[in-house]
Amino acid sequence: MSLDTRADLAVRGVRVATPVRRPSGAGPSDDGHVVIEGRNAALPIDPASPYTVDRGKIWLGEIDTGLTLDVVKRPRFYDLTTADGVRYEQIARLHGKDVLATTVVQTCIRYAEEQRCRFCTIEESLRSGSTVAAKTPAQLAEVARAAVELDGVTQMVMTTGTTTGPDRGARNLVRCVRAVLDAVPGLPIQVQIEPPGDLSVIDDLRTAGAASIGIHVESLDDEVRRTWMPGKGSVPMAEYEAAWDRAVSVFGRNQVSTYLLIGLGEDPDELINGAAGLIERGVYPFVVPFRPMAGTLARRDGWPAPAPSMVRDISGRVAALLREAGMLGADQKAGCAACGACGVLQAAGG
Ligand code: SF4
Repeated sequence: MSLDTRADLAVRGVRVATPVRRPSGAGPSDDGHVVIEGRNAALPIDPASPYTVDRGKIWLGEIDTGLTLDVVKRPRFYDLTTADGVRYEQIARLHGKDVLATTVVQTCIRYAEEQRCRFCTIEESLRSGSTVAAKTPAQLAEVARAAVELDGVTQMVMTTGTTTGPDRGARNLVRCVRAVLDAVPGLPIQVQIEPPGDLSVIDDLRTAGAASIGIHVESLDDEVRRTWMPGKGSVPMAEYEAAWDRAVSVFGRNQVSTYLLIGLGEDPDELINGAAGLIERGVYPFVVPFRPMAGTLARRDGWPAPAPSMVRDISGRVAALLREAGMLGADQKAGCAACGACGVLQAAGG
């Protein structure tokens, strides 16, 4: 696949109706879910995009890009409801064609405007009623079982808004992982946490059965962190480093990942140097284009998406470093790096 086209699509999106969407939520990505050339892709769905879809192919105006695109169908588990009246799709959602994703706690102590990450809309999806504030382990188990049985889900991602406890929400995930694995033994689960203070919770997550872990820093540049993530950016980088190292020792090399966002104003060479350092540590740097999605402070303030050429350049160079180190996203057992939809690293060979 042409990396130029894939990077262009990641930023400029496509004009197509997608029944599976993620219009808002935790973290930096929204978008519609499709499969391009057999790989999961989360693309902005934009009526102004120059890309269209016809006869299962992506077109740029009159030009056939040669790329196939299948829209991810609405999964059957979305039509189910728990005994206490919560729709399954409010508990967990399909990402790509085969990933079940949930935000276990949909609130964040950092959501006040002066603390909030400028790319995040975690509480917007709560306000719109598309999700519920807290998912119980039993609810997650019920939905995971249905998603695997009815829709062929192959892995699960569990993230959480930051809570007030010293573990920042990580310990709750231990219970959730256990419950899901009791219901669906062997389902690969990735947990996503902030550095948890007491690092032993990382061991507990692994013991509970989580297969991989994401500890997402978003940027390694302290000035960018302060500007874009006033709350989360106050967690010292040393805490991230300690958490990554503990996670690598417990989960193994390349079963630990972090997001690095392209387009927050960081110098590309510095971003790539930082990614190289992470790879050396055994941490997969999932570089992803920032998207100014509706409801974010960044969108309100007019911060633009990065240039597609920058996304291609950074993704291509980080993918080369990953290949050199023998660390492929596809080798992660679960999680965003394994899914790859929100970035173009896998298309770049990383
Ligand atoms: S990369 Fe992560 S957030 Fe994006 S679609 Fe895949 S699982 Fe969901």
